[in-house]
Amino acid sequence: MTTHAVRLNTVTKTYGHGTQAVHALRGVTVDLPRGGFTAVMGPSGSGKSTFLHCAAGLDTPTSGTVHLGEVELSGMNETQLTELRRQKAGFVFQAFNLIPALSVTENITLPLRLAGARPDRAWLAEVIARVGLGDRTGHRPSQLSGGQQQRVALARALVTRPEVVFADEPTGALDTRTAAEVLGLLRQVVDATGQTVVMVTHDPVAAAYADRVLFLAGGTLVDEVWSASADAIGRRLAGLGGYGRPAEAARC
Ligand code: ADP
Repeated sequence: MTTHAVRLNTVTKTYGHGTQAVHALRGVTVDLPRGGFTAVMGPSGSGKSTFLHCAAGLDTPTSGTVHLGEVELSGMNETQLTELRRQKAGFVFQAFNLIPALSVTENITLPLRLAGARPDRAWLAEVIARVGLGDRTGHRPSQLSGGQQQRVALARALVTRPEVVFADEPTGALDTRTAAEVLGLLRQVVDATGQTVVMVTHDPVAAAYADRVLFLAGGTLVDEVWSASADAIGRRLAGLGGYGRPAEAARC
């Protein structure tokens, strides 16, 4: 088994061509170890979402390679990527993306049913208990608070036992208290089960739940910190004020 959950090697992503070209990622190389909680931060437009999408096989790099576990993504067609994502990745987005007509349990088990698999009842019960929704399993999303809906989305991401949970601004639509609950659950997922979590966030308080924070600026990884406080992360982020000028990027 590999030590990394995700590996990016010299990944570039360019949208458009010629004078219209936007270089969203400019040669990103990084290993995300198994069992780690990594946050990805940077100014708006620095490439955070593109990074997450390339790492998760939702988007294809222009050049470079991406490994999810031992599997290399380049060269895979859309059908193969979809299958790989179903097997190896779980997703939590800012919008909860729940199906309104389905119950909590039905929403959580949807990815399994889409993959033609039966839910393992014991694991399903554990996941539901872990996110604290044991007394809400028959409810519809509209009967839940925002924080509870995001907990359903987290359970849905975990139920397939993915190698990596990718979270894109998972607390962006939540108030401070419910955001802390969801972040605590993500932290617990890593600590209790050795899961790997990769989370894009603009919030230093959210990033402080991670073991490691990567800073992107202008499509380049310019810095990283480990086990840092929200204050320290905020200061580092503010230091990117020039938004990834070459001088900033050259420091690493
Ligand atoms: P962030 O998540 O840090 O805000 P993104 O990864 O969304 O940054 O975007 C990085 C750059 O790539 C931005 O300049 C953005 O406008 C551009 N970009 C992102 N997606 C597309 C797309 N589908 N087509 C064209 N440009 C894009």
